[in-house]
Amino acid sequence: MNMIKSSRFAGKVAIVTGGVSGIGAAITLRLLSEGATVVAFDIAAGAVESFSAIHAGSGLHLQAHVVDVADAEGVQAAVAAVVAEHGRLDIVVPNAGIASPGTAADVSLEGWNAVLGVDLNGVFHTMRFTLPHLVATRGSIVTTASISGLGGDYRLAAYNAAKGAVVNLTRSVAVDFGKQGVRVNAVAPGPALTEGLRQWLEAAPHVRDAYSENIPLGRLAAPEEIASVVAFLASDDASYITGTTIAVDGGLTSWTGQPH
Ligand code: NAD
Repeated sequence: MNMIKSSRFAGKVAIVTGGVSGIGAAITLRLLSEGATVVAFDIAAGAVESFSAIHAGSGLHLQAHVVDVADAEGVQAAVAAVVAEHGRLDIVVPNAGIASPGTAADVSLEGWNAVLGVDLNGVFHTMRFTLPHLVATRGSIVTTASISGLGGDYRLAAYNAAKGAVVNLTRSVAVDFGKQGVRVNAVAPGPALTEGLRQWLEAAPHVRDAYSENIPLGRLAAPEEIASVVAFLASDDASYITGTTIAVDGGLTSWTGQPH
């Protein structure tokens, strides 16, 4: 099946981390559908294999590789391999993320380090090793932050801290690289109906009801609704936007949180 629906990214090469499931998979497919060559980096070997198998023969320019974004040397080597093979890099989406429960008083040290290692250091490594190539093409980075980087969610101290840092790292890199033509922005998704969240909601239907009640648009996001904003920010349609974080949250962060 030929899924290409526009040529906005024809000739462009993209890296999407965490790019074979959930929001990352939707971003990968969206960029592919607009003509990009996309290389997904993901730690989950089985998911990398099945995502590649599902889309083999689709005519899309997709590659997926096992890469741990927390491993600086691994990211450096993987980025070098992409540029060696494709000759350029235009779009980078540091999207891989994990969470570990706990307040600052009781989150395990292991959980804290794991979340900071993937959600913050992983974004840093991905930016660090791709920036020289993005300068060459006047390319663009779109990070996946979270509304948890704009405010605090209960019992997610490590995740809130990491995502808040991603929002400001995004600004920092935008400031440093703007004059070299590299734009850097973030999306801050609200709850998006990925497989992980779907399983949780099945086990806890009251949470789904609370979401419906509290989200002004009355429903969760589809991953594709996050991906479309990433594609906008990565495209020339957003040519004068840099350093910005766009909340894609159905209005959730516009609500004060007061009882209703
Ligand atoms: P997901 O678990 O469905 O997908 C995350 C992907 O990242 C997986 O394929 C996983 O294997 C990969 N990954 C995890 N650790 C990795 C590592 N060290 N190196 C490389 N890949 C790794 O999650 P998702 O819900 O699609 O989340 C994607 C991003 O969106 C994350 O940064 C998450 O924090 C953010 N986010 C999600 C939601 C939501 O409601 N789903 C809301 C706000 C923000």
